[in-house]
Amino acid sequence: MRASRYLIATQKETPADAEIISHQLMLRAGMIRKLAAGLYSWLPLGLRTLRKVERIVREEMDKSGAQEVLMPAVQPAELWQESGRWEQYGGELLRLHDRHGRDFCVGPTHEEVITDLVRNELKSYKELPANFYQIQTKFRDERRPRFGVMRAREFIMKDAYSFHINAASLDDTYQLMHRTYCNIFDRLGLDYRPVQADSGSIGGSSSHEFHVLASSGEDAIVFSTGGDYAANIEKAEAVAPAGDRPAATEDMKEVHTPDQKTIDSVSEFLGLPAERSVKTLIVKAEADENGESGLVALIVRGDHTLNEIKAENLQGVAEPLTMATDEEIEKAIGCKAGSIGPVNLPIPTIVDRSAAHLADFVCGANKDDYHLTGVNWERDVAVGRVEDIRNVVEGDPSPDGNGTLEIRRGIEVGHIFKLGNKYSSALNATVLDENGKSVVMEMGCYGIGVSRIVASSIEQNHDDKGIIWPDAIAPFQVAIVLLNGHKAPAVAEAGEKLYNELREAGYDVLLDDRNMRPGVKFADMELMGIPHRFVISERGLNAGTLEYKGRRDEDKQDIAVEDALPVLM
Ligand code: ATP
Ligand code: MG
Ligand code: MG
Ligand code: MG
Repeated sequence: MRASRYLIATQKETPADAEIISHQLMLRAGMIRKLAAGLYSWLPLGLRTLRKVERIVREEMDKSGAQEVLMPAVQPAELWQESGRWEQYGGELLRLHDRHGRDFCVGPTHEEVITDLVRNELKSYKELPANFYQIQTKFRDERRPRFGVMRAREFIMKDAYSFHINAASLDDTYQLMHRTYCNIFDRLGLDYRPVQADSGSIGGSSSHEFHVLASSGEDAIVFSTGGDYAANIEKAEAVAPAGDRPAATEDMKEVHTPDQKTIDSVSEFLGLPAERSVKTLIVKAEADENGESGLVALIVRGDHTLNEIKAENLQGVAEPLTMATDEEIEKAIGCKAGSIGPVNLPIPTIVDRSAAHLADFVCGANKDDYHLTGVNWERDVAVGRVEDIRNVVEGDPSPDGNGTLEIRRGIEVGHIFKLGNKYSSALNATVLDENGKSVVMEMGCYGIGVSRIVASSIEQNHDDKGIIWPDAIAPFQVAIVLLNGHKAPAVAEAGEKLYNELREAGYDVLLDDRNMRPGVKFADMELMGIPHRFVISERGLNAGTLEYKGRRDEDKQDIAVEDALPVLM
């Protein structure tokens, strides 16, 4: 590709509304543009990387024996009524109707459609196991779309669905998909962890998520320092705290449910608009050494979002925290004395429970020695999504007995589930077994956030100059920058020659033939993250050399013109 004929839409300024680095860099490098909240266009540069991610996913899925299909994005309501999800799915499901008044949705996922397809096409156990996948646009009306393509409303997912005669066969395919996902994320050059996950609303018996490690991740994952134990924070098991952390006392377990007056005063304190006020308030109180009641935790439920809570009460919580460790609370909010409701206490620190559960906020007090460990939230506070509030903290012994637990932030890029017969029995998807008896199929489903991967990779691969692509998904692997190519025919000619040579060797090459200052061109190539750069100048050519610099290299080097190809290998 010649840069003079290519949309290079780089920007110097960091866009104000882009909070995390990948979002900033995708905009600045000219990969994407926003159309509306959660809706993005992919510019030529961004699409090249997206397609490369897709290709790797497709190759590994094909290698696993899965068969590619393509299903409609728009799905009839009848199928969702059959599975029961038309009622259950909630606000993320974008519902619409056609000119005849029939109901449809834009698919956030495709269990119903594939199960319908398979119940009509597959008749015998001999056709099983079968695994069908697609790479396709999904729509989820996320309550809080943010971080660019990381949490978009329209995004690209690889979704696969497997069908089986029995649970043992499902187990085999599940393991195969687990290995396939590892191959995919290895090839993508991501630093990731597979973790045990709750199977959640989709149902089923077993589930793993694949998380890319990044401080901007919206999820918290827990793993052991010494062994193989790894789980997401919702799934992570609490084991007895080690060392000097105090175990839960009886008063810690006491739960006060305040009256309406208290609820009103908390609403006011939090600065919540009246129309989105607090609905439920659960306070866990603990008496301190002086017998004073202190708030140790507060769960506020309502229709509000964290943004609507008065900023001054948050004291600069830039990023909502998914799990409050004391350190994070300290760092994000600091300590502030005050009172709330009927109890005298330090002002609670407010911790958002992640974008998925915006209605619930957890507030932990600034008590020095307070940890969530040891409190059984499910038993003590049976309200809302408190099952998400788990009791592990860093340093706890690992449930597998190997070392202690470490908590890190992760970005969910893949998710595999054993669905069992949830959809197949609801939709009556059966085949005949060896004895001619009709049996309901077992199912698995396997998702990968293809567009989210692009952003996740940038979270792990960047510096102050811009993106640093791994070769496997770089939009171009090589940039050839011509210095003064317009005035120096020898430079233009040498550039052309190298361009053709590298392309013949299979590289994606961007020939920067623009009539611009060298500094601008270098900055663009670095911002765009192109892993290898050659510079061709008149002076170099006179000495028979080119300049080479790897994107991560400190220094550039002069190499003989004929060594250009070898230096890349
Ligand atoms: P999250 O917890 O981030 O909301 P999810 O658990 O709802 O994701 P799944 O239903 O497991 O998502 O979908 C499979 C994959 O699709 C996810 O692992 C993720 O990589 C991707 N994905 C889900 N929602 C989005 C989104 N809004 N934008 C981009 N990718 C997404
Ligand atoms: Mg979600
Ligand atoms: Mg999830
Ligand atoms: Mg998931």
